[in-house]
Amino acid sequence: MHIAIVGLGTSGNGVLKAFLDYKQAHPNTDFTIHIYDIANHLGHGFPYQEDTHSLIMNSYARNISLDPENPNGFVEWLTVHYPEHADPNHYVPRPIFGQYMKDFMKDYMKDDSITVINQLVQDIRVLDKAGYEQGENKQATYQFQLQTADDIWQDTVYQAVFLNIGHPPYADHYHLRGHHGYIHNPYPVSETLGQLNPEDKIGIIGSGLTALDAMRYLQNKYEGQLAHSISFYTRSTPFKTARQDYYDGPIHMTFSYEWIDEMSAKGNGYISLETILKAFFADMKANDVDVKAVIDRFGLGSLSEIRHEVMGYDRELQIIQQYASTITKYLPHLYMKMPGLDREKYIHEYMDTFEYFRNQMTKEALLDILNWYDEGRITFKDQLVDIKPSSQSGFDIYYKNGAVSHADILINAAGMESNLFRASDQDILIRNLVNREIISPTPYGDVLISWPQGQSMSRRFGTFDNLFFTGRWIKNTLYGNNNALMNFTFGQDIVKQFLDRQQQ
Ligand SMILES: Cc1cc2nc3c(=O)[nH]c(=O)nc-3n(C[C@H](O)[C@H](O)[C@H](O)COP(=O)(O)OP(=O)(O)OC[C@H]3O[C@@H](n4cnc5c(N)ncnc54)[C@H](O)[C@@H]3O)c2cc1C
Repeated sequence: MHIAIVGLGTSGNGVLKAFLDYKQAHPNTDFTIHIYDIANHLGHGFPYQEDTHSLIMNSYARNISLDPENPNGFVEWLTVHYPEHADPNHYVPRPIFGQYMKDFMKDYMKDDSITVINQLVQDIRVLDKAGYEQGENKQATYQFQLQTADDIWQDTVYQAVFLNIGHPPYADHYHLRGHHGYIHNPYPVSETLGQLNPEDKIGIIGSGLTALDAMRYLQNKYEGQLAHSISFYTRSTPFKTARQDYYDGPIHMTFSYEWIDEMSAKGNGYISLETILKAFFADMKANDVDVKAVIDRFGLGSLSEIRHEVMGYDRELQIIQQYASTITKYLPHLYMKMPGLDREKYIHEYMDTFEYFRNQMTKEALLDILNWYDEGRITFKDQLVDIKPSSQSGFDIYYKNGAVSHADILINAAGMESNLFRASDQDILIRNLVNREIISPTPYGDVLISWPQGQSMSRRFGTFDNLFFTGRWIKNTLYGNNNALMNFTFGQDIVKQFLDRQQQ
């Protein structure tokens, strides 16, 4: 059997590991694996590529071991390779996690069934068993042929393809792509932001994790040279909560895989939102946390709240944050067990608040931001409504109250475009898959897959037995997967299910 792994980042490594673990346990297995990715992402993907070490992980080192047998695996690896970072409660630079992942996979990469093709894939054709191209549903098990970015259709026909292509492109909310001075994708920051003119007025659109990365890089790189403060341009108040220190007391949590199985069996496969909320609020009561009071104290993300979170200590916030991190691995299971209308209710009434507390920012990063703000090196411009290229040069930024300001350089950190139709402008593989209707959108615009198998579900072809999707393109199914471990695990899970089906 010929297998293609398209994209070898965190999810792709999970896919590869599961195949090779299986091969080791079943030495007579006969498959070849072709891995497609560009050389400078191979093995660590986009977030953990070589770049400045000021880009830090947003999870503690203790929580991101890739070895399920050894939860301390990453910290032990750090002890040998980066002893200065070998602290379970440390936020390690992202490129170091990339090195760890490559090192963790290095023996797997030596397997003689693997061929690496240092190319992006830009198109896929659906073939029948005899090798003829298909454009309609024959209710068959299909095969696939891939076209690489050099426009060449590869000779090998694959019986299974795993699309682990990572993140959607950055969104271009203000249609600025192509304008001089606009930096659409800031990574790697050492390349895109390393040669700016510090005399220019520089601004960052957004204030999420990417914006913090960009601001910290710029302030360190151009320290003492900047002619103007650097602005964050945002629509509303800027930040998520600052992650409190690790809480090592007991935290009561009802959710577990056993609980999910039990409730699901009781509900014939469904778990209502009401059941989930009841368990959550009972847990919070048992942990002596008043959720509403925490939202009142920290629910805005304003500078004064952030100052309080960074300088002070709040037990209730600390517990909610840790609870939200711990529950992450159960999120896709809970989300997909909810009845459809309950899920809608969750999305509209609860998701924003929950995600606000789940997606925390490191204290280190926020402390830098507060210090630079106090020194006048940062300004915050909220109530942004529009940005237009200026008739002279640079950009005019428009605010709700009618005011207008100017920037010479704008760095985009305003989130990703996961709507398949809009993203087709920027990603040629997505464009071709959408056009061929090999992938179809969920009601939220991302890629529709079967759960938990991860198979692409196409309006034209039906559910593909052997074409799989992972990563942020399936975020409305694998809910909560802005998380390295979840993607690594999901890659393994879908291969195990695929291999089980081959035995049947
Ligand atoms: C900037 C950033 C920071 C993050 N920080 C953290 C963090 O600190 N902690 C955390 O847990 N999670 C973090 N995440 C979440 C992140 O989603 C996961 O950690 C994880 O890396 C995603 O894995 P992936 O395999 O889906 O994508 P990636 O690791 O990005 O891998 C995708 C791979 O596919 C390749 N590819 C793309 N298109 C093609 C194509 N057409 N053909 C062939 N190859 C292709 C890419 O080159 C890349 O190597 C971060 C995400 C981003 C964007």
